[in-house]
Amino acid sequence: MTEIIDLHTHSTASDGSMSPAQLVRHAKDKGLTAVALTDHDTVEGISEALDEGNKIGIEVIPGIEISTNYKPEMHILGYFFDNERYLNVQKELTEVRKGRENRNYKIINRLNELGIPVTEEELKEISLSDTIGRPHFARLLIEKGYVKTMQEAFDKYLGKDGLAYFKRQELEPIDGINLIKKAGGIPVLAHPALLKMNYNDLDKLLMELKEYGLSGIEAIYSENSKEETGNLLRLAIKHELLVTGGSDFHGTYKNEIEIGIGRGNLNVPYELLEKLKSAKLSV
Ligand code: AMP
Ligand code: ZN
Ligand code: FE
Ligand code: FE
Repeated sequence: MTEIIDLHTHSTASDGSMSPAQLVRHAKDKGLTAVALTDHDTVEGISEALDEGNKIGIEVIPGIEISTNYKPEMHILGYFFDNERYLNVQKELTEVRKGRENRNYKIINRLNELGIPVTEEELKEISLSDTIGRPHFARLLIEKGYVKTMQEAFDKYLGKDGLAYFKRQELEPIDGINLIKKAGGIPVLAHPALLKMNYNDLDKLLMELKEYGLSGIEAIYSENSKEETGNLLRLAIKHELLVTGGSDFHGTYKNEIEIGIGRGNLNVPYELLEKLKSAKLSV
């Protein structure tokens, strides 16, 4: 039997529905042998996840997913931060989180102007942590009866063409990569297919990001078509980049995505994690 792993998941420390410990137990229940926790812009859930992994016997990989500024957004995963070197980037990460908070206030105000009463307190209650993301807004809008689905919430209000969309202050991709490296982590471009670029443009982008210090790409991803995965694997070879894979599990915030298997046929081999670990050892 092949071992199933998942290198991209979210807990209540950002916009997932399970606590870090619940998520690790869920991964174990689903038969995974390793799981990385990659919350948006925070490592707050990592120690709880590592403790639970030790307790129940599943390998937990510390990770993060940092949002950076790129037509409109590029996400960069970072694996294996060092506890000590993390202190070097704590302040920068606080700034990133402030950018999120400022954006959230703008969304709250705009929704209020549109006659939709939402408060920070309500959002924190939903998020179960201090990190509020757009999926929490979406859930609140559903609860209040303004929309029926998450998708409708993004289409009407929160997405790029929505009435309450605001871009937030974000790091540039190069700064996101540098932040991860400064913390001793391995930077990996998340879900490249979501950038919706053609093969040649992605080819050029990867050359540039590699020069900045990118180590890998998440070529295996829940939402990829077979063709997209094939192209990304080719580009990884061409640019000598590591390959990673993950579901982007968010629990009930993305009901259709299950941990490890994504929409049903995701398959991330353990061997990819071994290569990631070797890269960490040679940093
Ligand atoms: P934030 O970090 O607060 O900007 O929110 C980003 C999260 O919103 C990501 O986890 C995405 O999965 C989710 N998201 C972004 N766009 C959409 C969309 N159009 N429909 C559903 N979820 C989305
Ligand atoms: Zn998310
Ligand atoms: Fe992402
Ligand atoms: Fe994610």
